[in-house]
Amino acid sequence: MNCPNCSAPMHLDRDRLVFTCEYCLTVVFPQESSEGVRVLGEPTPFECPACRRPLVLGSIDRTEVSTCQNCRGLLLPQAAFFDTVRYLRARSSQPPLDPPPTNLKELKRKLRCPCCHAPMDTHPYGGPGNIVIDTCPRCELIWLDYGEITRIIRARERKHSW
Ligand SMILES: [Zn+2]
Ligand SMILES: [Zn+2]
Ligand SMILES: [Zn+2]
Repeated sequence: MNCPNCSAPMHLDRDRLVFTCEYCLTVVFPQESSEGVRVLGEPTPFECPACRRPLVLGSIDRTEVSTCQNCRGLLLPQAAFFDTVRYLRARSSQPPLDPPPTNLKELKRKLRCPCCHAPMDTHPYGGPGNIVIDTCPRCELIWLDYGEITRIIRARERKHSW
């Protein structure tokens, strides 16, 4: 990405998760996707488990995630998952939705972990949203297909679900 002020190439400040220009000190916040992911675009060592394109670096709040620019899936550390959901829920201005029932066909899809390449665990997510998620217990990573995090965030909160 080039500086909108002086057109010099900008570089990513990994601590602040923004792009900065060393020449004129302009700071640019990367654009946010409809799912709240800021796509930073730096390469990651991972390949998309669903469509095999290279995953790029993104961020949600202060959490680094990997995202696919083709299918818009999202790989994030399990440890950051609840905080990420809480963060997105707190700033969502969209009305709650009753999610459609779990699509059981999704349980049959087998994905390989982008990190260790072992088969991921595919299972219905226990929280709101009626989604099927893929996790790697070994790498402590979660893969979410496009739209799944929005379904979690917009689902009406069930009592005792957290
Ligand atoms: Zn500049
Ligand atoms: Zn993909
Ligand atoms: Zn793994």
